[in-house]
Amino acid sequence: MKQLEQLYSGKAKTVFRTDDPDHYIMHFRDDTSAFDGKKLAKLDRKGKVNNRFNAFIMEKLEAAGIRTHFVRVLNDQDCVVKRLEMLPIECVVRNIAAGSLCRRLGVQEGLELHPPTFELFLKNDALGDPMINESHVEAFGWAKAEHVVRARELTYQVNGVLKQLFADAGMLLVDYKLEFGLFKGELLLGDEFTPDGCRLWDAQTREKLDKDRFRQDLGDVIEGYEIAGRRLGLHFD
Ligand code: 5GP
Repeated sequence: MKQLEQLYSGKAKTVFRTDDPDHYIMHFRDDTSAFDGKKLAKLDRKGKVNNRFNAFIMEKLEAAGIRTHFVRVLNDQDCVVKRLEMLPIECVVRNIAAGSLCRRLGVQEGLELHPPTFELFLKNDALGDPMINESHVEAFGWAKAEHVVRARELTYQVNGVLKQLFADAGMLLVDYKLEFGLFKGELLLGDEFTPDGCRLWDAQTREKLDKDRFRQDLGDVIEGYEIAGRRLGLHFD
């Protein structure tokens, strides 16, 4: 597969076109950002750690019957993904209260949520990714109602698989964000799954092993990601 021109460069990943119209190359950079791009940094090893972490999770999801855009790892910082037509929405499931939920509703961080909550956000940095609901999506034509229903179903299915996977490795899956897109008419998970887009806590101590280490200046950001990865059985050299 031949890498062609850059198609899109986000805050942490760059996507390249390839000579295969159905596939892109997704490059995990060492860049990190928070607060809609207001806080930026470069973190040594991040691209490599996230590429590994993501591949491991995508393979677990595929094995559980959840179809994703992931095809294969190419090298340390690159993987091949299917070319999707993305829905401009972010789906968030929360098992435990943290982050924006606490700020919005004044609830205490750490509160267990039964059932887990499901929220939709519009993917728009300029507007600060505002929270929306299904009727907004339909009224503004951001996605078809049936696709939002399916995205919600898949986001919860991911929770079933990953909550257990992390629990077995001594971690709590607090919350995560997923995006979806269409590939030849089928809605697939079209996002990475790494500690950049989820919250992971040590089950005993509740130590944070995710991007909150960067957001909250807790230090040892990538060391936290590596601890989470090693507990899942990954090796980083
Ligand atoms: P919150 O709404 O509490 O800020 O985020 C909920 C979850 O979704 C967290 O795990 C957070 O990392 C993830 N998340 C929310 N928005 C984004 C985003 O724009 N990019 C990434 N990578 N993750 C996000």
